[in-house]
Amino acid sequence: MASITVYGPVRLGDPAVIVHGGAGGWRGISRIEEVLGAVRAGAAAGLHHARKGVLEAVVEAVAALEDSGVLNAGIGSVLTYDGRVEMDAGVMTDATQAGGVAVVTYPRNPVRLAAYVARELPHVLLAGPAADELAQRLGLEKHPGPSPRALERWKTLREKLRSGEGPSWARVIHELYGDTVGAVVLSAGRLAASASTGGIVLKHAGRIGDSPVPGAGFYVERGVGGCSATGIGETILLGRPCVYAVELIAEGVPVEEAARAAVARHTQLFGSDNLGIIVLDAKGYAAAAMNTQGMPIAVAGQLKPNVEPLMLWGGGGGAER
Ligand code: ASP
Repeated sequence: MASITVYGPVRLGDPAVIVHGGAGGWRGISRIEEVLGAVRAGAAAGLHHARKGVLEAVVEAVAALEDSGVLNAGIGSVLTYDGRVEMDAGVMTDATQAGGVAVVTYPRNPVRLAAYVARELPHVLLAGPAADELAQRLGLEKHPGPSPRALERWKTLREKLRSGEGPSWARVIHELYGDTVGAVVLSAGRLAASASTGGIVLKHAGRIGDSPVPGAGFYVERGVGGCSATGIGETILLGRPCVYAVELIAEGVPVEEAARAAVARHTQLFGSDNLGIIVLDAKGYAAAAMNTQGMPIAVAGQLKPNVEPLMLWGGGGGAER
């Protein structure tokens, strides 16, 4: 029986924020405190901006996570097989407004570009050099290039694959994902969700995961709830666990049961060690569930103004890093 870890329900009220720092293998890593500090800052930013509107709040929460440098998004993004940063991000509000950007290299904060797409363009998804040109034209801050830690990890893993010491890319995939970021926010009865990532280490150039795609990496429904996902994007694109979780909430299923059921269904379809989700309903109840080894999360809200960060530990596998 695959192991699924569930957190919640926790009653946050309105406004409410839940963020995560990526489902994956977290045991044995030395920077847990930094990571908990990063998710704390993400949730605090979301709560701080909640009065400006739900889209602003979710964007500021995710931008703070992208700026942490210790998570796989924004300036901490992992590298493709050929050593480049290629990022995906997306955002959706319950006003059926959504924007996603994929394979972007220019912006420091891809979530800000995704929010521009959602607000201003008659499109939902934008990818590649044209999206980068738009980011530059808008005057968005430029990405500083690969972080020393991302570069180090890329070198080690690539060497392992090249020397034949490790198995093929497909078989080491469980070592290669994680630390992606996401957030769900409720403010004045409105909901928004977002995800942002550098993707999977050693991914093929041009690969697009679930994080820029509404209904895959994130999903919200007005008056019902929202969800953000992390894990192996290829399974999330196919299984759409966020849509499933939000549909269950619409049927009256409590958030924690909806989160568990969505991860259980995903595990049945694709096996273990591939998914974590955070969920928030329109009444201000939050929950999270995962089938991996760990997932850092943080919550804050009207009834819990002090941000509570924690590492959710589970029985899943995943590499020690
Ligand atoms: N879902 C992300 C992707 O596949 C990776 C992650 O969540 O760690 O691009």
